[in-house]
Amino acid sequence: MPVSGLSPYDDSNIFARILRGEIPNRTVYEDEWVLAFHDIGPQAPTHVLVIPKGPYVSFADFSAKASDAEIAGFMRAVGKVAKLLGLEEPGYRLIANMGEHSGQEVPHFHMHIVGGRPLGRMVPLA
Ligand code: 5GP
Repeated sequence: MPVSGLSPYDDSNIFARILRGEIPNRTVYEDEWVLAFHDIGPQAPTHVLVIPKGPYVSFADFSAKASDAEIAGFMRAVGKVAKLLGLEEPGYRLIANMGEHSGQEVPHFHMHIVGGRPLGRMVPLA
């Protein structure tokens, strides 16, 4: 069910539990700023999620409250992971769902990296 991206952070969310090691994940990359792991329900041949280690509910929360170092660390890691996955050629898509209209389901900010096939239209027709 879609969540608001403006709620207080709830540290029982599934990605917080993954960060604490309470739930297994297929890790692709980890550094001091992020954990990147395969999505459990891939929408394309490659579908990886990159999450910050800090407690941010959504892109709105992260972009407003994270430090410059966290934001830089996160963005650089997203680029690094896409490269590691071999997606730079022929390309990939980044998706960050924020709040109810986007369909965001997990209230811990995450960037989807999707690729491995032509991805079609940027936004599906309603
Ligand atoms: P959202 O809709 O919030 O942008 O995306 C949440 C994503 O998290 C979905 O693509 C969903 O498949 C993925 N997901 C949900 N629960 C888990 C889980 O326990 N493990 C992993 N690896 N991915 C999950």
